[in-house]
Amino acid sequence: MKPYPGYIFDLDGTVYRGGRLIPGAAETLARLRARSARVVFLSNNPTYTREQYAAKLARLGIPCAVAEVANSTYAVIRELQRDAPAARLYVVGEPVLVNELRDAGFALAATPEETDIVLLAFDRTFHYGKWLFAHRALRRGAQLWATNPDRTCPTEEGDTPDCGSLIPAFEASSGRKLDRMTGKPSPAIVRVAAECLGVPIGDCLMVGDRLETDVLMGRNAGCDTAVVLTGITTPDMLAGSDIRPDYVLQSIADLA
Ligand SMILES: [Mg+2]
Repeated sequence: MKPYPGYIFDLDGTVYRGGRLIPGAAETLARLRARSARVVFLSNNPTYTREQYAAKLARLGIPCAVAEVANSTYAVIRELQRDAPAARLYVVGEPVLVNELRDAGFALAATPEETDIVLLAFDRTFHYGKWLFAHRALRRGAQLWATNPDRTCPTEEGDTPDCGSLIPAFEASSGRKLDRMTGKPSPAIVRVAAECLGVPIGDCLMVGDRLETDVLMGRNAGCDTAVVLTGITTPDMLAGSDIRPDYVLQSIADLA
């Protein structure tokens, strides 16, 4: 494998699994850094901050700056700053996301009438009042954005499937279609990660354990891709899939 100036790493199933580092991960990261490669870690989980991810990686033995973490919250903040900096938001999400958006300087809408964008995220605090507010805003023409496809449910142990899906529910009730997705599998989050690296996206390698998210979005964003077999993808799944990564690695330890 050729050396890349920038590496974008999925976390769960790639760098660690649950609370344990994949064997060789720390050494691989150290080797990449020793040859001056830039690295960034991607997470789709909006319930933890970038600081929390950096702290977790450091605790597991991988020194990590906050600037080296791009999560779905950071991705949506960067997309909003770029394309809708003055938008008033209504957030269907948990307090950690709402606070991060407020800290980033965004105005939160007080009424459906003044809402420019309804932002959907994973939300264990969802209730009828949120649905009604968002539905009214959408019926009045607010855009519908989502940080994540909420078919997966982020937990301490990683993503677990089937927590239901707010996106089709809001699309059906409002007659609107999703205007923008910023987290995985959107290439937007890879673009934001490449910005963090300061490396052109075409010079980056996206490394992850899921074909239909990590590999597909890396390819759609315009970078080379590697799948690791330490997470969700098995050799059988690989053989049966149309999604072809540039590299297949037993683990992150085979990277460098
Ligand atoms: Mg993963």
